[in-house]
Parts: sequence; structure tokens; C-alpha cells
Amino acid sequence: MKYLSTRASGSAAPERKRFCEILLEGLAPDGGLYLPEHYPQVSDATLSQWRTVYHTQGYAALAFEILSLYIDDIPAADLRAICDKTYTAEVFGTGEIVPLRHLEDGLWLEALSNGPTLAFKDMAMQLLGNLFEYELARRGEELNILGATSGDTGSAAEYAMRGKKGVRVFMTSPFGRMSAFQQAQMFSLMDANIYNIAVKGVFDDCQDMVKAVSNDLDFKRKYKIGTVNSINWARLLAQVVYYFAGYIQATETNSQKVSFTVPSGNFGNVCAGHVARMMGLPIEQLVVATNENDVLDEFFRTGVYRVRGSADTHETSSPSMDISKASNFERFVFDLLGRDGARTADLFGAQLAKAGRFDLSRDPAFVHCAERYGFISGKSTHADRLATIRDCWTRHGVMIDTHTADGVKVALEKRKPGVPMLVLETALPIKFAETVYEALGREPDRPAKFVGIEDLPKRVQVMDADVDAIKALIAAECQKS
Ligand SMILES: *Cc1c(COP(=O)(O)O)cnc(C)c1O
Repeated sequence: MKYLSTRASGSAAPERKRFCEILLEGLAPDGGLYLPEHYPQVSDATLSQWRTVYHTQGYAALAFEILSLYIDDIPAADLRAICDKTYTAEVFGTGEIVPLRHLEDGLWLEALSNGPTLAFKDMAMQLLGNLFEYELARRGEELNILGATSGDTGSAAEYAMRGKKGVRVFMTSPFGRMSAFQQAQMFSLMDANIYNIAVKGVFDDCQDMVKAVSNDLDFKRKYKIGTVNSINWARLLAQVVYYFAGYIQATETNSQKVSFTVPSGNFGNVCAGHVARMMGLPIEQLVVATNENDVLDEFFRTGVYRVRGSADTHETSSPSMDISKASNFERFVFDLLGRDGARTADLFGAQLAKAGRFDLSRDPAFVHCAERYGFISGKSTHADRLATIRDCWTRHGVMIDTHTADGVKVALEKRKPGVPMLVLETALPIKFAETVYEALGREPDRPAKFVGIEDLPKRVQVMDADVDAIKALIAAECQKS
């Protein structure tokens, strides 16, 4: 399998890359995102075989089957070992890894949040940690991951990379702005290769520092600076697996269809659903659920994609979906436009830079969003979130987090009779305890391993929003070892 950029135009005879070449890369050199040259097709017989694999050998074995269709530059035995090491009951809390939880007739939650940081990002990041360690050892290289986080991504990255050989993580976060629980999760890590940097500023200051370092190409090359952001293809690929696992658990035969509702921000999670559907998984609808930051809902309703400015980006009670643009969306639009790289480059390069928006409302491709690709959307607000958390608790005795609540709210509006609807549970309520308390007047349960983490010693250095200071830190740490 080879990979191409969403901005590759045919005439330029674009370079095609293999999986391990793009594994440690971010954007393609032309500014596009990597996608496989084609989506492998899963026949009825293969899907039946995967059913048996999942039921008899488990999630890791299913992951190996799916990943091997996209990764042909890691020997099969090694890839299998990486999957086996990643998806264990010990790390993810249950043998099923992503168990379904019944809410009511035709409505299920797929639990993706029982990993080390209690959010679905662990599903992909844990695999990425093992893939990075494997590939860096093979090349005899090192990597310094530099990131900015306001919560979920940073902690998932640290828990995936802690103790991994060849990798250091430098994670900036806005000083004093994360919840006590989130700070405790990250800052209590004592691993020598994890560096928590609390920046005196807001999240945008952290992000600007990361960008400034990455734009210094000499520094970037010399110190092997990399990222783990959501546009990484390996992260997306890891997520494809749980769409299959959810489908297999919800159905008995391949003639049945299911729909998924996905709480969405950067379009990474639901884009994996799109890939699964393109491979032939019988998915009826992919329902994109947004919060008040409704960039994506607006597109699927109107055909207009309009990036928001910072004044227009709301701070909500489902903060991991507070985005101004959806960084993975370009992948879907590339497919929607019949894989026209030149047009994709024009929309996401020229038009967004010039006007901050593009309009496909009069393009015949737009009608295919629902018809051919199964995409529909809805949105949710703070009041909806509170009502949905309350409703799930009082009617079903199930406590959900604020992001999952956005999903359940929209799923209830969009589900169709006879088609099971699976809502992806993207975090556990304890991570967003304040809003859950507002809804229910009680504290969410805390998994045993997190009892008292706020009292643990913390390992964090406070820094001004100073690019030279963070460069000096990275350089000093690299020279140490
Ligand atoms: C990251 C995140 C999301 C959004 O996922 P995308 O892949 O960015 O669409 C939703 N919920 C939670 C809890 C998250 O951490």
C-alpha cells in the first residue's frame, strides 16, 4: 500500500510513500494530508472471518487483520506483536477493549474511554507509542515530540510515550488553566522522557511557541522535532478498528446495518468511520455531532465550510470539541470531490487563505455527502448537554460525559427505526466532573487507579511564553544523553 497527499495533482507525478515513511511525518510537503491510494475492500466472507477473529481471538487480532491491509513495510509477526502489546485488558480495562453498553431500544454506547487517560484518544495514541518505538529503533533514530495541549491530547500522548526508547515528549500547556484532574494526570508522570511545561499564557501562546519552533527548519532538523497531532494517518487508521469491533458486537449477520454518532471536533474520529464505510463496512449513517462550535454541522447542512476566528470560537463545557477549523476534514473533501487533488488544494489552500471559507452548496458533489457517504449532522448546546446527562442518568442509570452527551443528544434526533445506533463514548464523566455535577448534583465515579491523584507529587516546569527558552530546554536535554 502506498500513500498520497490530498493535494497531489496528477500532472505533477506525485511521489507515493509507504506507511513507515509517513508514520513520523506531519503534513505532506505540499501542505496536504496523507491518504492510502485506495481503500481495500472487505468482502462478505472476510467480514465473517473477522467476526470469528474478534469473538475467538479478541480486539488485538482484529486490529492486526485491518492494519495489515494498510501496512506492508513492517513484518507481519512484528505488527502482530505490536497489536498484542497495545490492546490488552490491563491497559484498556476489559477484554472486549471497546464493549457496547445498552441504553435503550436500538441505542448503544460504544465505550472507547477506558484507556490510561479515560478518553478515546488512547485508542490510537497507545498504538502510535508502540509504532514509534519500533520504527525509531529500526532506524537508530531519536524523536523529540513537541506539543501544545489544553487537556486530552497531551495527556494521551504522554501516557503513550512514557518510558519509550528514543522518544522524548515536551508538552506545553497553559499555566493554571487545566482542571485539577487533568493537571494531576499529566504532572504526576515521573518518567524521565516526559517534560511538562506550564506556560504563563493561554493555549494559543503554547501553540504559537510550538509553531515557532517547527518553523525554524534548522532547529527542527538538528533536534528531530516531531508531533503527534490528529492529522497523523496512523492515528486515524487505529481508529478504523473500533468501527468494525462495534459493528461486529451490534450485529449477528453481515446483512444488518448500523449507524454511528460521533462527537466531533477535528473530524479525526468520524473520518475513521468514513474509511471503514469506504472499505465496505455496512454503515447506514455517520452522524457528526458538534457542540456550539458548529463548523462541521454548518457544512453538512449548507455546503459552506467557514473557518472561525478566535473571537468566534466558543469555550464550552465539551472543550475537546472547541475547534475553529476541522483539521482532518480535508481528507473527506478529497474523497467527496472524486480525489481531485488540484481542487482540494485550491479549496483548502487558496480559498481558505483568501476568504476563510468555501462553498460547495451548488456543487453536485455536495448532495453525495448524505446519499453516497452516509454523512449527516446535528449540534448540541450547554443546556442540551445538561438535559441529556440527566436523562441518561435518570432513565438508564448511566453516567456520561459532556462530549458523549452531545453525541447522544444528536443520535436521538437522527436515529432510524430498525437500524441500531451506536454512539461513540469519547471520555469518562470524571474528566469533566464540574459539568456533570451541574447536571446531576453528584460527583461522577472515579476509577480506582485515579483515587487521590491530585495529591501525588508533580513534575512540571513553569516557563514564560518564550520560544528561546523552550529551544534551550530541548537542546540541553538532548545533549545530556
Ligand atoms: C478529541 C476529542 C473529541 C473530538 O474528536 P475529533 O477526532 O477531533 O473529532 C471528542 N471528545 C473528546 C472527549 C475528545 O478528547
